Amino acid sequence: MGLSTSLILLAAGEGRRLGESLPKALVPLAGRPLVCWSADTFVALEELAEIVLVVPAGDAGRAIADALPTGSVPVRVVEGGARRRDSVRAGLEAASGELVLVHDAARAFVDAALARRVLAGASEHGAAVPAAPVTDTLVRDDDGFSGEEVPRASVRAVQTPQGFRRPLLVEAHEAADEAWDAPDDGTMVRALGRPVALVDGSGENFKVTWPADLERGVAVLRAAGRLADEAGEASVNEFRVGYGWDVHPLVEGRPFDLVGVRVADERGPAGHSDGDALSHAVADAMLGAAGLGDIGTHFPDTDPAMKGIPGPTLLEGAVRAVAAAGWRAVQVDAVLIVDKPKIAPHRAEIRSRLAALLGAEEDAVSIKGKRSEGLGGLANAAGVGCQCVVTLRRTNEGS
Ligand code: MG
Repeated sequence: MGLSTSLILLAAGEGRRLGESLPKALVPLAGRPLVCWSADTFVALEELAEIVLVVPAGDAGRAIADALPTGSVPVRVVEGGARRRDSVRAGLEAASGELVLVHDAARAFVDAALARRVLAGASEHGAAVPAAPVTDTLVRDDDGFSGEEVPRASVRAVQTPQGFRRPLLVEAHEAADEAWDAPDDGTMVRALGRPVALVDGSGENFKVTWPADLERGVAVLRAAGRLADEAGEASVNEFRVGYGWDVHPLVEGRPFDLVGVRVADERGPAGHSDGDALSHAVADAMLGAAGLGDIGTHFPDTDPAMKGIPGPTLLEGAVRAVAAAGWRAVQVDAVLIVDKPKIAPHRAEIRSRLAALLGAEEDAVSIKGKRSEGLGGLANAAGVGCQCVVTLRRTNEGS
């Protein structure tokens, strides 16, 4: 069992450099308040016993607290102060953990692995901060002229979350000159003369400061697959649903076939085709889902070639048409309405044959038989009807 850990999440800052009058934590990024993105990582971080959310006073603070996502880690809300160090101090008074992580909500894209590196470093050394290499050449500003170079290999850009054993951080805050507007907590611990370990930071863990950072943030979220709404929309567009309906009268002296399965010999559906209502309804649903019209336009009954055309042949034509448009059927639920013959004895074979014709999984094909109960035009075995829905999935292989 490791040390109990609290996170102080600093969300009391202003959004002026972002060109916003809103508190920074509420500035929208990809449709959510900025604070939500880092909170996502922490509310699910199992090492945390609690989150102490530090907010501005008043309505803004309540709005930030209300915006926070919920997770397995409990959240307490406290009011911050004028300077960063005052806000940390307020959080520290409320935090109960033996270890304390302090994080700026404006570093919205922190990930759990980075937080764990900091925790490990703080457990071992008492204090640890994430640090990233600097890529720009660094020079001192010599009255508007380039001064002495600061070798970039010798410096690091320090990020948050920063981790500390709680008594050490309390000591650093108590010891610091009250007038000092300290940039961060690692600096305050360092000012005590105590070691602060550097652990690997991350380029994506940047602080949202300027308007362009919001766009960069969206790109980071997209690359990390974190834009759930967008991803969800894309996956919905991968699917289409079509509805099919067909009916044929039953007459003596015709065989009764459904997707090539013979269900009766002496009395079957009349029609220009073979009268296979199941094949026709499924084909119609597929064409409808793909936006390709209906079987009347693809297989007109005025075409002599269509005379007596078997249901499976017509269905294969529909499969080819939707495939050419970049779709394939992945699911069917069909209801056959017929008094005689009974469908149940043939159901497994019909299901298997239909799945094979569509190239769908058999367990995604459903065939249900219903009787007319003496009502409507299909009563007394006068006809066969079929209603169905078909789900198409995009293949990106259209021609
Ligand atoms: Mg028909």
